[in-house]
Amino acid sequence: MNEKTKNKNNLVAIAKGDNPQETIKNGIEKLGGISNFINKGETIFIKAYLRVPELFPVNFNFDTLTELISLCKTAGAKKVIVGSYADEDISVSSFDELLGFKHLIESLGAEFHVFQEDVEYVIKEVEGNYIKIPKIIMNCDKLFFLNQVNVHPIFQINLSLLNSYSMVIQDLQNAEKGGQEEKDYFSSDQFKHDLITNLLNVYEIRKPDLVINDLFYLLEKVGPFIFKDSNLRKVNLMVVGKNILAVDIVTLGLLNLDFLKNSLTSEARFRKFGISTMEDIQLIGENIEENKINVELTVSNLEDIPVINTDIITGQYCTGCFMEAYRFLNFLRTAMVKDLKYIITQSFLIGKNPPEPESNENVIVFGDCAINSSKNREFRRIIIKEKKLLNKPQFISKKKEILDKKPKLKEKDNKSILELPGCPPNFYDCLSSFIKYYGKKTCPSGNFYLDMFKTYLQEKKLEEISK
Ligand code: SF4
Repeated sequence: MNEKTKNKNNLVAIAKGDNPQETIKNGIEKLGGISNFINKGETIFIKAYLRVPELFPVNFNFDTLTELISLCKTAGAKKVIVGSYADEDISVSSFDELLGFKHLIESLGAEFHVFQEDVEYVIKEVEGNYIKIPKIIMNCDKLFFLNQVNVHPIFQINLSLLNSYSMVIQDLQNAEKGGQEEKDYFSSDQFKHDLITNLLNVYEIRKPDLVINDLFYLLEKVGPFIFKDSNLRKVNLMVVGKNILAVDIVTLGLLNLDFLKNSLTSEARFRKFGISTMEDIQLIGENIEENKINVELTVSNLEDIPVINTDIITGQYCTGCFMEAYRFLNFLRTAMVKDLKYIITQSFLIGKNPPEPESNENVIVFGDCAINSSKNREFRRIIIKEKKLLNKPQFISKKKEILDKKPKLKEKDNKSILELPGCPPNFYDCLSSFIKYYGKKTCPSGNFYLDMFKTYLQEKKLEEISK
């Protein structure tokens, strides 16, 4: 490492320990201790990530959070706040009422804030985009990111850069299509491009003072909602530092992944993050080479998700549909196994120009591209032969005559199709339509989950799915 790169901001510690508390403490000590990050009387905002409460929610490791809050208090912090925006469509109160986070975090001596639309915010401009960010984040003295590392369907790993996104107001969290319809939104994968740009714009507004990638426990294989096939590994490691890109690059390195091939970190290198190669990072603590882990990533082809009785047929699709279909198909596979056994057969078509399904029965057409490009396809019509009376006794004598006649063919619209519109479709809309299509009797498990989701969805979304 040359002298020029020996910059305190680019210090990254790899810490190891027998439990999460010890590991985070080790990591911060290697960076000079918590008092290097906090002055007495300061307000600290710990940005966690709040996932949907469905299935088996994983937000952050409470042991890690407990220790971090305790360290902040020991260093003389006046106030410690833990918070985030929640995932899209989720009502804020659910994190208190269902998961009991508020009580738990307050018992640790910190405040808990889940942001909603009426939160006080400031507007900041980055690269021509106007972004609303809560005042509470802008005004805090120090901002810490606590990020639980899992595999991620788009960015391989749930990096801290990704975590920063839920600092902004909900309507800006979504990568909007805006006026892109006429342009080739699809072929340029504008969805992913917009998502990355928005992520990096948000980061530039309020940079964190401390970043922790917690991979003491690591969810691999399917992650991040702990679907059926996820695997929890005890890795005993954390990566801690000040520069978010440096921490994410080292985390990828530990997981044997090339940061130059990761679309998020490779794009971040072109922004003002101060890091462009591994040489720019000053590593301390555990040796990266000796601690490398071969993580099992999520599937990159939807056809590889083994949903029973379901034939997944893909055309060309972009990241938007991939992300939503990944969630929907894994949900079916995890929570609706019993229902799928009753369904017997279905085809799931996604993307532009998907091939014809083998069967016309139960054809699910996912997303606007699949719907619009399959309007004139064969599976949309069914042909009915009218010559069906051969087995009735009164016609047996006329059997030859009937056989000689050409059967009358009648073409009808195939009613056994479920269209799930959207660019991309919304998970809750899809689930609600799926249950309406098959009926509650066929989908008891799906209906149970939908009723449960309704207890924590925002009113706007509830109205949409009740239509
Ligand atoms: S419908 Fe799906 S595949 Fe098509 S542009 Fe929208 S998100 Fe992408």
